[in-house]
Amino acid sequence: MDFSMKRRTLLKVIVLGDSGVGKTSLMNQKFNQQYKPTIGADFMTKELQIDDKLVTLQIWDTAGQERFQSLGSAFYRGADCCILVYDVNVARTFDTLHNWHEEFLKQADPTDPDTFPFVLLGNKVDIDGGHSRMISENRAREWCASKGNIPYFETSAKENYNIEEAFLCAAENSLANEHKPDIYFRGISETVSEPEQRGGCAC
Ligand code: GDP
Ligand code: MG
Repeated sequence: MDFSMKRRTLLKVIVLGDSGVGKTSLMNQKFNQQYKPTIGADFMTKELQIDDKLVTLQIWDTAGQERFQSLGSAFYRGADCCILVYDVNVARTFDTLHNWHEEFLKQADPTDPDTFPFVLLGNKVDIDGGHSRMISENRAREWCASKGNIPYFETSAKENYNIEEAFLCAAENSLANEHKPDIYFRGISETVSEPEQRGGCAC
């Protein structure tokens, strides 16, 4: 087997949004296994390969405390990326995105809030063939533009639609900060010896 030295980067990604929008379901799809948070926050890890970099995504989900907006500072601390989620069929979950965005910036306190990597997911696009949708894709994209061009993905946890793409984008955008000084890139890199993998993203 061919072994070569590669850098492995650990990225902490947190998933935020109102209760019921599908955060846990999105993670279940991503990891293709049932994930049942017990108490407090919990995370799952996933190995990816992006170009020649090995990446471990550590994705943090809440255990329902988002209902009370009290996630605690440990949840936010050291995050490299924040995935915001709303339900395209429930306008209120879109309206509260601003609060989640603000809360993240307040709690995680990144040095450069203007360039911190966020990703927005509009979930449950499968419902009713789109007829019960309350928020148009354009409206969501306008919101993203107003927050410094946050990447936007429409997803369905039920139909496993666009989830890989969204998590890959989150990883790539976090890595894009790596060449900048260690100000808000807090991913831990180490050089490891790994079997050579062929092809692109191994997600
Ligand atoms: P959370 O509170 O944000 O973690 O949301 P959950 O993942 O617990 O999902 C809340 C409910 O929405 C559950 O009944 C899920 O089965 C359902 N759900 C989640 N994502 C989707 C989706 O993409 N499409 C549909 N139709 N239902 C979904
Ligand atoms: Mg949940």
